Amino acid sequence: MNQHNRPTNVAARAVTGHGHVDPSEAYWDPALETQSRDAWEAMKLDLLKRHLRHAYDNAPYYRRSFDAAEVHPDDVKTLDDLSRFPTINKSVLRERQEAKPLLGDLAAVPEDEVVYVSASSGSTGVPTVSPFTQSDFDEWIDYEARQFWSSGLRPQDRYCHSLNFSLFIGGPCVLGAQKLGALSIHGGTVPSERLLTMLKTFQATAMWTTPSYAWYLGETAVKEGIDPRKDLAVKRIFVAGEPGGSIPETRRRIEDLWGADVYDYYGLSDIFGACAGMCEAKDGLHWAEDHIHVEVIDPETGLHVPPGGRGEMVLTTLKKRARPLIRFRTGDIVSFTDKPCSCGRTSIRLLGVHGRLDDMLVIRGVNIFPSDVEAIIRKDHDFTGEYRLIVERVNHLDQLTVEAERIRGFNGTDEELAKRLKDHIKAVSGVGAKVSILDADSLPRGTHKAKRVEDRRDHVWTA
Ligand SMILES: [Zn+2]
Repeated sequence: MNQHNRPTNVAARAVTGHGHVDPSEAYWDPALETQSRDAWEAMKLDLLKRHLRHAYDNAPYYRRSFDAAEVHPDDVKTLDDLSRFPTINKSVLRERQEAKPLLGDLAAVPEDEVVYVSASSGSTGVPTVSPFTQSDFDEWIDYEARQFWSSGLRPQDRYCHSLNFSLFIGGPCVLGAQKLGALSIHGGTVPSERLLTMLKTFQATAMWTTPSYAWYLGETAVKEGIDPRKDLAVKRIFVAGEPGGSIPETRRRIEDLWGADVYDYYGLSDIFGACAGMCEAKDGLHWAEDHIHVEVIDPETGLHVPPGGRGEMVLTTLKKRARPLIRFRTGDIVSFTDKPCSCGRTSIRLLGVHGRLDDMLVIRGVNIFPSDVEAIIRKDHDFTGEYRLIVERVNHLDQLTVEAERIRGFNGTDEELAKRLKDHIKAVSGVGAKVSILDADSLPRGTHKAKRVEDRRDHVWTA
């Protein structure tokens, strides 16, 4: 089923003479975006059955793995039946690609039909490719347009796409902005002075970057005598790639710096550029539910966690023909809600990526995510907001040290500031941390992905 070809969809749009959706229209695709939860579930089940069948019939890997697990697409009667199917992860993708280059045997179309690949390098440095057919690509870009529309981007905007274009899945998302009619600037990742000049010259009204870079760029502008609130025209900033955009304190501080709204987006190189993003209500990230089915599991037992609970996100594509991903374990710890959003959209919403399974620190048996500490530090305006976590093993016991910078002109004592932070961390996470107060600007500033955790333990037990 092809959403953007559904007659109801086309009829529902108020299309202008230029072929674009009317800017006053609240939704890109009203019939789809506001349908009942029952309609979503029925649509997903229908898509899932066909997609499993496509994977089983055309991808040798899935035929073997389904047969080995004694499951078959025809056995699927409800969405929950999917949980009997085997999971895969990044290592499987890498291994199968090496065994059957270039696309691996999870691919379900001949290479002739593939028109685009993105690639992610990952920890081993070997790029794993994510292939798209032309229809996969078109569906994806239509979703990006829908997502941008929900965040308030309109044809009159000037949009600067400041993400990497080199093999990176985030690159082509700019075509979604173009599709909805915004003047689209293919900015890429350039030195900050150049990007600031670009934003100023074009008077861009929207841009996309990472949260740490948005912060860094705003601070750099101020240092160079540019006031982002007055001298630049950016009113919307889309961020992705780090948890920061879903941490309200981080988002608010970037918003204050820029005088702009910040919308968190979530993407996955193995599927889409953005698989979810915030609407103008900024209350969780609306999920591309007609493209990707979500399960949230306990990483240890593999069982589904109760609705709203935290667990590892497991994704199943519903349409991507080139390479279906069936039960892909992302390693991201997330929570979701299916409660109605004030914007009227009915898709499930990602409430935040609380961390990566491999980012989760276990300190003396207690789990803590760097994002938990970040939220505490950024709420307290006596700190600059920059921080670093150092984990060591002292006398066989884990010791967490939190380094945080006090602001310039702070009037109190370091002892009192350290105690306050230590107490907050203890209260929120149960972890007793050592706190070290540093001068403003003494920690390395984030560029595109800030490294804020240093684990110096030799043998780390991870869940
Ligand atoms: Zn919403």
